[in-house]
Amino acid sequence: MDLFIDTHTHTVASGHGSTDTITDLARAAKERGIRLLAVTDHSPSIQESARESYFRALRFCEPVRYGVRLLYGTEADVTDTNGTLGMSDEVLALMDLVIASLHPPCFHPSDRETNTLALVNAVKSGRVDIVGHPDDEKYPLDLPTLVDVCKEYGTMVELNNSSLAPDGYRGNAKPLDTQLLKLCKEKKVYVSLGSDSHGRTGVGDFRYCLELIRECSFPEELIVNTSPSLFSSLLKPHREARKQLVR
Ligand SMILES: [Zn+2]
Ligand SMILES: [Zn+2]
Repeated sequence: MDLFIDTHTHTVASGHGSTDTITDLARAAKERGIRLLAVTDHSPSIQESARESYFRALRFCEPVRYGVRLLYGTEADVTDTNGTLGMSDEVLALMDLVIASLHPPCFHPSDRETNTLALVNAVKSGRVDIVGHPDDEKYPLDLPTLVDVCKEYGTMVELNNSSLAPDGYRGNAKPLDTQLLKLCKEKKVYVSLGSDSHGRTGVGDFRYCLELIRECSFPEELIVNTSPSLFSSLLKPHREARKQLVR
């Protein structure tokens, strides 16, 4: 299977100790055959992350580096059960791509119903392209409900390579990802593979995702990383919805 896109990466702007820049990530992507790279630093709701001025400036950055097309987005925190995202509407409207994720500094892990409500309402806002790592043991989720809402709103479900790595920090993600893939296969929901690399090292590395995809006989046509044109078409309605909010 040819994978041309990495949908989830972080630079120095996310903190967490990485000092690599967008250019470093693009160079690594080029070396690994990635043609489309989404740079998705944490939203300003995380204290160590960049402020909104950084995200505003991204639209002036080169769209192509080392021959790799770049998408400038964010991994936005979902901060409450209304599905509020940790970035202003005005700056969200500038983003090429928005991943919505639950992280402990911004959303205290709660019961299944509460965690699910937060993500479901974020998706229902119509502004979210991808639900990030819904495989975190700290955040029990009603996965069938989440996958149904993703289907309805054309939002992709992420299979996160870092969650599945042996040193992954989201607990035992594999059974949850297995359930997710089963549901996505059944309901024909698109899945995006994200390396979630902090820095250049893991860019384009999907080895643990691929193992599980094979184990689950997950259909290639539902994996968006195989087709830049499919991926771009899935982003379009959410980008439009983000722009509408500030018009
Ligand atoms: Zn995350
Ligand atoms: Zn991330």
